[in-house]
Amino acid sequence: SRENNLTVRARMHEDPNKVFVIDDGKKITYGDFLKRAGQYVASLHQHYKISKGDRILARVSKNVDAIALYVACLRLGAIYVPLNPAYTKQETEHFVKDASPSLFVTCNESADKEFVGKVQHVLKESDLSASTSKLSPNLDVENLESDDVGVICYTSGTTGLPKGAMLTHGGLSSNAEALIDCWQFSKNDVQLHCLPFFHIHGLFVAFNCTIFSHSTLLWRPKFDVSDVIKHIPESTVMMGVPTYYSRLCGSSKLSPDLCKTFRVFICASAPLPDEVWKDFQKKSGHTILERYGMTEAQVVTSNSYSVSKRAPSVQGKPLKGVDVRITDTGSIEVKSPSLFKGYWKNPEKTAKDFTQDGYFITGDMGQWDKNENLVLLGRSKDVIITGGLNVYPKEVEDQLDQFDEIEESAVIGVPHSDFGEAVVGVIVLYDRDGDKTELEKRIIIDLKAKLAGYKVR
Ligand code: ATP
Ligand code: MG
Repeated sequence: SRENNLTVRARMHEDPNKVFVIDDGKKITYGDFLKRAGQYVASLHQHYKISKGDRILARVSKNVDAIALYVACLRLGAIYVPLNPAYTKQETEHFVKDASPSLFVTCNESADKEFVGKVQHVLKESDLSASTSKLSPNLDVENLESDDVGVICYTSGTTGLPKGAMLTHGGLSSNAEALIDCWQFSKNDVQLHCLPFFHIHGLFVAFNCTIFSHSTLLWRPKFDVSDVIKHIPESTVMMGVPTYYSRLCGSSKLSPDLCKTFRVFICASAPLPDEVWKDFQKKSGHTILERYGMTEAQVVTSNSYSVSKRAPSVQGKPLKGVDVRITDTGSIEVKSPSLFKGYWKNPEKTAKDFTQDGYFITGDMGQWDKNENLVLLGRSKDVIITGGLNVYPKEVEDQLDQFDEIEESAVIGVPHSDFGEAVVGVIVLYDRDGDKTELEKRIIIDLKAKLAGYKVR
């Protein structure tokens, strides 16, 4: 039914005069936003014949029209496939082949020109935005089952190519409902949103808490210390990765007075060092609320909202409706209504990641502390997390191994004061006595052309 559609289950239509998003000072109400999304529905449906189940690949900038495109896909029952705008041509090729989209909306026309002909429609985001402005909104909503797929989120694979996790309307909605309850979101919240809008943290956790509580997003294009400092007094909630908080601690303007009307700072995605938690408490007067989750299961555990119970270095208790167990070997396994439906076109990998009795094997290791809080111990796969983004050693090693000069390579993470971890490649050359400085420069330049910027800085 219509009710299964995430946008209807969130009841986004119920408060048309409430401010939904503040974009560069401009306030847009829920009513006006839904009309804008309705123009995208009209365009996608009439001009591009998009309907339920079709994939839309979105390599888009972080602006309000990107939200309208996303919401339009949900309303049509089409499957939204977000891409990091930083992906290179080589990386993008895989997503195009794997997702086989009917429409590819891009902010990087020059890089994506080559997909014209391979994808039915390749559109520049600004052209789509301009052409939709003249249409009358289509406010229809597709009837869905709650396990119909809303979004495919690609996660970089430890073995082989990135795989697409299928998230359903029902799964996304149930996690959102548990979260607004856990974190006590209300209509009065104003969320300072500076996360990327192409993976779980910014696209689901943060965004859904706002729409399900009919509150307001303060939409920022990216994380920037002075920008956040400037907007803290007008906001009540922020979600971020540890790097955000360690950088904020470096600002002389962060103070308890600045944050006195703020409600809660939430953190996840990578280990949050104790020192940062304590430093942030001293400088802002707030204890960071840490939670744990992943693309495939969304948010799994969270520290308590109650200020007296927030603690560093623990990831909290399972959300309402979420079942977490830790095996004898320390492996964390999850069963919940918010679990993904499987990896897109990859039933073998899906089967491998589930136990016989239907628990998802997270790939993380952990234990329970004496207060029954989850404590993460690390990943069973050795991913490097740099600035909150994941780099798998294997994908960089694979590129290094393609150089004729390189006999062997190993990529490791080393502690980095700003990014948390930095990616370091260790290589063995065939010619042990050759000129290494020139070669090193050449390798780095070459890798930068093949891999996203955060994988090789
Ligand atoms: P990929 O995108 O390549 O699949 P990924 O699984 O790391 O990598 P996400 O789903 O965005 O991508 O991240 C989930 C992972 O992030 C978790 O499995 C866990 O290892 C890590 N993580 C999440 N929250 C925390 C936290 N609070 N502390 C430490 N690590 C965390
Ligand atoms: Mg993962």
